[in-house]
Amino acid sequence: MGFKVAIIGRPNVGKSTLFNRLVGKKLALVDDTPGVTRDRRVHAAKLYDLFFDVIDTAGFEDAAASTLPGRMRQQTEIAIREADLIFFTIDAKSGLLPDDRTFAEVVRKSGKPVVLVANKAEARGAQGGMLEAWELGLGEPIPVSAEHGQGMPDLRDAVIAALGEERAFGEDEEDDAEIAASEVLIGEDITDPDAEPAYDDTKPMRIAVVGRPNAGKSTLINALIGEERLLTGPEAGITRDSISVDWDWRGRRMKLFDTAGMRRKAKVQEKLEKLSVQDGLRAIRFAEIVIIVLDATIPFEKQDLQIADLIIREGRAPVIAFNKWDLIDNPQELLAELREKTERLLPQVRGIQAVTVSAETGRGLDKLMDSVIKTHKVWNSRVSTGKLNRWLEGILAHHPPPAVAGRRLKIKYVTQAKTRPPGFVVSCSRPDAMPQSYVRYLSNSLREAFDMPGVPIRMALRTSD
Ligand code: GDP
Ligand code: GDP
Repeated sequence: MGFKVAIIGRPNVGKSTLFNRLVGKKLALVDDTPGVTRDRRVHAAKLYDLFFDVIDTAGFEDAAASTLPGRMRQQTEIAIREADLIFFTIDAKSGLLPDDRTFAEVVRKSGKPVVLVANKAEARGAQGGMLEAWELGLGEPIPVSAEHGQGMPDLRDAVIAALGEERAFGEDEEDDAEIAASEVLIGEDITDPDAEPAYDDTKPMRIAVVGRPNAGKSTLINALIGEERLLTGPEAGITRDSISVDWDWRGRRMKLFDTAGMRRKAKVQEKLEKLSVQDGLRAIRFAEIVIIVLDATIPFEKQDLQIADLIIREGRAPVIAFNKWDLIDNPQELLAELREKTERLLPQVRGIQAVTVSAETGRGLDKLMDSVIKTHKVWNSRVSTGKLNRWLEGILAHHPPPAVAGRRLKIKYVTQAKTRPPGFVVSCSRPDAMPQSYVRYLSNSLREAFDMPGVPIRMALRTSD
């Protein structure tokens, strides 16, 4: 077995559900048969191509009410000590409770690698919880639904990122690293909230290409990858049905979700229909940047907008490719019309990059990839708290929030809680009373002021006290 995982979190966040999903009922049963010598408290688990053990912490918190009795804490600490990796689990639906912070503190002090699992992410209102989760200082929350099995590919990637490939896939190795890790205490505040880290262009950028049937997705993918294709077919390991292709664009590493390849695998027509919906969704979740291919000879249709909406809701950044431009004989007029339509129909991503291409002739592909890279940078961008609050001062001076029931709403400060996409927390006197129109105004103004065109921007309101 490679490594051991402990699922840690306060009661009711979904630890057992996640445990069962990772371990699978059958495996758990096998472990219970007499004669199996493996440690009962540890169960074999699998996440696609990752094989590991999960420490069974079920029942640890039996004695726990809303407080944190010593026993529970002690058991948790034992599990943490045993583990190589911690799945720190929160309930994104309910948001953070004081117990989450207490547990997070224990985990942080352990110095062990952590994946922050934001469970119940499929639920309404989970977005606020996702943003809040950043406050735990445990890194980027990975949205999953243990109950519905969503977000598992991202969880897999996060495990590899947390452990490193060698450790995640590696065979048994000596355990000195483990001993060292358990002795290390991470400092209280290792992140400087005001730092604006440089954009990291060494990691492969994940791209998906989506669009209606016949829009030209396969042609585009083939044109993009062309001779530079380095690797085809199912990548060693990822799920059987997800296919990604690694390639290089002008020295920049890219990973493309190859939906075309997936469709080739579907033989029956009926299967194909079903696949294309799920397929699109999976591609979107896989990707950081999603290229929406539109057939320029057929105007925007409802389905195109639904795809765009889905991308935005998932927090990915869209780039539009108006394809088959070689067939258009009034290019300038049409482009103006399409641009106008795009801006009107997709106000949530004002300034979205939209490029004309011909997948067949290869024209416009450079521009398309430039747009993809530009959008990816914006999607990753971070604004320091200092700059945000100078901006806020200007807003409050010139366009303050309205008064509600005779009392003016107050905004104390704004911070950026996350990137990918940019997410901001606005601390204000009465979040519930703040009109949506004003929140939209804030987000549009932020977009302008800090030059963040074309990506979804998230705003969460919080009570200041
Ligand atoms: P534990 O106390 O942390 O082990 O939490 P459980 O696994 O017992 O889950 C607590 C409750 O949350 C149960 O009612 C689960 O059905 C529910 N739950 C678990 N995972 C999810 C999820 O992904 N989405 C939603 N909506 N509910 C979930
Ligand atoms: P998909 O279903 O979205 O993958 O679409 P395909 O890539 O299979 O393309 C559908 C059809 O449109 C094929 O007949 C392609 O040859 C054609 N096509 C794709 N891109 C272009 C283009 O840029 N110009 C022209 N004229 N035809 C294209």
